[in-house]
Amino acid sequence: MTNLTNIKARKTLDKIQPYTPGKPIWEVQRELGLDRVIKLASNENPLGPSPKAVAAIQNSLTELNRYPDADASALKEAIATKFQVTPKQVITTNGADELITLISEAFLEVGDEVIVPSPSFSEYDFGAHIMGATVVPVAFKEGFEYDVNALISAVTEKTKIIYICTPNNPTGTYMAKADLDKLVEAIGDVLIVIDAAYDHFADAADYTNGVQYIQAGYPVITLETFSKIYGIAGVRVGFGIAPESIIQSILKVKEPFNVNTLAQIAATAAIEDAEHVKTSQQTNKAGRQQLYKAFDELGLTYIQSMANFVLVQIGEDGENLYKQLMAKGVIVRYGKIWGLPEYVRVSVGTEEENQFFINVLTELVIKQA
Ligand SMILES: *Cc1c(COP(=O)(O)O)cnc(C)c1O
Repeated sequence: MTNLTNIKARKTLDKIQPYTPGKPIWEVQRELGLDRVIKLASNENPLGPSPKAVAAIQNSLTELNRYPDADASALKEAIATKFQVTPKQVITTNGADELITLISEAFLEVGDEVIVPSPSFSEYDFGAHIMGATVVPVAFKEGFEYDVNALISAVTEKTKIIYICTPNNPTGTYMAKADLDKLVEAIGDVLIVIDAAYDHFADAADYTNGVQYIQAGYPVITLETFSKIYGIAGVRVGFGIAPESIIQSILKVKEPFNVNTLAQIAATAAIEDAEHVKTSQQTNKAGRQQLYKAFDELGLTYIQSMANFVLVQIGEDGENLYKQLMAKGVIVRYGKIWGLPEYVRVSVGTEEENQFFINVLTELVIKQA
């Protein structure tokens, strides 16, 4: 008789926390029997996918008998042109999530250290843990501002990677260019991963997505995604830009056909869809203001955001309020997973969705008071 308990997964997997996705609309509808449910939980584009991407997908369906282009050459070319780098400085992946895993697989040995600002995107910890590396969390300063000196001080001989998510998920804060300059100059032999998933929403004058450091030859990789502003989270495409030698190492651990045909075609069209990008930026900027105004009126503390979501402090009874929002058909993300039980993160929706959320929140907050 075989004994399944003898089939042991690697020890390091014990450290992995399962990813908590935003609840899908259909699930909440079904569980709670609601007619209208709005999802402001995964920082998706509320205007929908780039129309150019949709058209491109529709036109390519009859060729799905063929394998994808393993090199994603058209997409890489389009990315390289946009960012003024060479195609060899670009890698495309099945979402930026896959890239985080690939970077981890390419660069981390058991016992290496990975510096991760806290709270930030959970996939950095995941990548470290699957490789048996150690996560070294570094706290933010007051107001979730980056503490560049603390990050530099955290570097040891074992440090292999530093993650800088800017604008940071879930806080919406960013690292000012002067601080990134300082970090890049201070750190020699450590790979700096700049996760710029939200860079299109960052309108501060001193924001940078870090591509300039790559052009100057620093050991930096900038991560980008098509899931946020381009609105094609469902097909899964992300990419990285880095010096060629770094890209070469990551390519070694990549599966040949990691980005499927529809994803390549959609992304190549979306990156040229300037109008969709512009409308999405405008909608987001106005939506952030709409949310700030409502939070001000309700006396709620929030963090100024450079992204398409806002972290707001809803009080000691945070979990209850989060659940009541859900019961009324508004899905947001509860802050407990980031150690912020008094907060929720709300994605910026359309004007009408934001208003729906504001109305429900207002009703709940007034009832509580
Ligand atoms: C959404 C997100 C990504 C990328 O997501 P994919 O859908 O896998 O491309 C990467 N980093 C951060 C911080 C994100 O919030």
